[in-house]
Amino acid sequence: MLLAGCSTVPSDNAEALPGDWSATNAVPSVGAPKTSRPVKPPVKIVPIPPAQTNVPPKVSRPAPILTWTSLNRWAAENKLTAPRKISSSPVASYAITSPKGTMVLIIGSREATWRGLGMHLGFAPEIIDDQVFIYGLDLQKNLEPLLLGETFVSSSNRVIVIDPGHGGVNIGTHSLVDGRFEKEFTLDWARRIRPLLTTNGWTVFLTRTNDSDVSLSNRVAFAEAHHADLFISLHFNSAAPDKRQNGVETYCLTPTGLPSTLTRGFNDSWTNRFPNNAFDSENLQLAVRMHGALLRGSGEEDRGIRRARFMGVLLGQKRPAVLVEGGYLSNTREAEKIATPAFRQKLAEAVAAALK
Ligand SMILES: [Zn+2]
Repeated sequence: MLLAGCSTVPSDNAEALPGDWSATNAVPSVGAPKTSRPVKPPVKIVPIPPAQTNVPPKVSRPAPILTWTSLNRWAAENKLTAPRKISSSPVASYAITSPKGTMVLIIGSREATWRGLGMHLGFAPEIIDDQVFIYGLDLQKNLEPLLLGETFVSSSNRVIVIDPGHGGVNIGTHSLVDGRFEKEFTLDWARRIRPLLTTNGWTVFLTRTNDSDVSLSNRVAFAEAHHADLFISLHFNSAAPDKRQNGVETYCLTPTGLPSTLTRGFNDSWTNRFPNNAFDSENLQLAVRMHGALLRGSGEEDRGIRRARFMGVLLGQKRPAVLVEGGYLSNTREAEKIATPAFRQKLAEAVAAALK
């Protein structure tokens, strides 16, 4: 698995280089935690600043809210109904609803759902004085883009770069069923996507159209050279030797100041700001579209929208960008499905449907 691609299971040896596809730039930190175990920022309660939400992020970037904020108060500020408790046991969970949809938050857990899709917060919500409190950056980066944000995919977004993961000597992972490499499946998926998006009016470029080895930095440069409005990197997953893990994951870059969902032993420096962080809101909105469409199209399990800051194919993007993992080649049932052209066509149609 050292040269294999999309293992989302952290290595048992944290000092091993994650031999990964999308990892670059970041420096593997020796002895770093295998998964994010963030130290929670101190609970300090101050009033939330007014009028955070009506300002388009690229025009004016509001100062980050680095304090814990009452969700009731935030809801009232934004003219939303107060969060309602929907379960007490085994865990307390709360739903907050806007005209855009409902988010469910679990007290003490970073996992949340948005319109039924799994997603991950930077920090687990807490109860303080019988009220739900949320870390301010989670409000700004995870709640506001979904509950309050306007959709950004429009007729002005018309150039898209589709990135079939791996290629050439970079084979990615391999199928448990027939031994074929991830690089073949991602290329086939991209080739199926192209005509569908073209029919829908998109100008589509593929970072590779054959079995060639393209560096991650060149994939980013390719998107830049083609003035891409959006970037989508295609991958398949592996948890080998675990054959049980299955499902679909969608990744976008972790916002500055928040811990990642997945670090794979890489240094997860919260203070880093990458070019793609200018698109934090759009990244999440694009991830939601992709993830929902892929789940509907594939019928596979939801492993959630996740955050990472070691994926070199995303960091430098000056446009909304996501990386999707269309299922596990290490899971027999999913590998059998991925091996069929009909299923890969479904995945392609899902990507096209996400951008309608
Ligand atoms: Zn991959």
